[in-house]
Amino acid sequence: MTPEHIYWTKGKITSEQRELRSGHPGCIVWLTGLSASGKSTIATELERQLFNQGSQVCLLDGDNIRHGLCSDLGFSQTDRTENIRRIGEVAKLFASHGAICITAFISPYRTDRDLVRKIMPGGRFIEVFVNAPIEVCEARDPKGLYAKARSNEIKNFTGVSAPYEAPAHPELELRTDLLGPDECVVRILEYLAAFAEKSRAGGGRPTDFRD
Ligand code: ADP
Repeated sequence: MTPEHIYWTKGKITSEQRELRSGHPGCIVWLTGLSASGKSTIATELERQLFNQGSQVCLLDGDNIRHGLCSDLGFSQTDRTENIRRIGEVAKLFASHGAICITAFISPYRTDRDLVRKIMPGGRFIEVFVNAPIEVCEARDPKGLYAKARSNEIKNFTGVSAPYEAPAHPELELRTDLLGPDECVVRILEYLAAFAEKSRAGGGRPTDFRD
């Protein structure tokens, strides 16, 4: 809840001006999926390719954020919700400054992801369901986390001892058991190109990032 005596300082540069400079709409590419579904692999390659093509891009990745911004949070439902709320607000800040902000978090609860969708102007929250059956993720297990979850060394592990709520209407679904990482990145780049085109055709309409 925002206290009544807290005001909003309006800047002198609009989101539209920032987007004209970056050459594309500011948005969030929100990757969600089970551990080892492929979020970080896709996110880092997507960031590299967007950077190389001159886009303004940044990446917020699950483990990295938990080292700093959210180092005080655990994995209870309340803490996971607060984790996503903070990440959503930070991602929105980047997007409002004209960047494509990629996020790679399990983000297992639908209501948490929907809250981030709600704080973003229309179309600028691009939810990407990085989907592979849990058996496939567990067989990959690059960090050995599933093994630890099965032996109860890690509690509240998504898919094993905590729920994962799949997106009902994601902008994109990538089946990483069927597609290679490169193809997944291509699909997102295609989506972003179409989104940028649609945005341009609409006259690069000002967004309501409150600037
Ligand atoms: P997450 O960030 O979701 O926990 P990671 O990206 O760390 O997952 O690990 C996913 C593993 O799955 C990596 O070892 C990666 O090489 C492999 N993998 C296989 N196919 C794909 C795919 N299509 N997209 C992404 N990763 C894939």
